[in-house]
Amino acid sequence: MNPLTLTLSHRAMDAVLDACRAAQPAEACGYLLGTELDRRVLFVVAVPNVAADPEHYFAIARDDTIETIHRALRLGLAIFGGFHSHPDGPDHLSVQDCADNAHLGPAFVHLLVGRHEAVHAYRILAPARILELSVALDP
Ligand SMILES: [Zn+2]
Repeated sequence: MNPLTLTLSHRAMDAVLDACRAAQPAEACGYLLGTELDRRVLFVVAVPNVAADPEHYFAIARDDTIETIHRALRLGLAIFGGFHSHPDGPDHLSVQDCADNAHLGPAFVHLLVGRHEAVHAYRILAPARILELSVALDP
């Protein structure tokens, strides 16, 4: 329930890390699905990174976003965030990430997997203002 904590099931965290390993050396990306109320990630949808330079940027095809929305509706879950990786760092959102994703608003949670699988979560309050959340695993 804490808006400053992002909680993932163990299975969801494993799915994020598996997607990041599989995508290397490119950045992995995808969506976090779960229950809106307590912001628990129960299901992860990894999608192809269609950026022109996927080792340094990520981009998601519109069709993959629409398919993920359908999937969330079928599962009765909400999309409340996304994830991507920085296999080569930095271990925080880049200036580009903030600029590209600020339009999603502060409710959208951004999970970032940095070097050595360091995991951080953020809300982008404004293009130059981010809030770091703590990341917790379901016991
Ligand atoms: Zn990034």
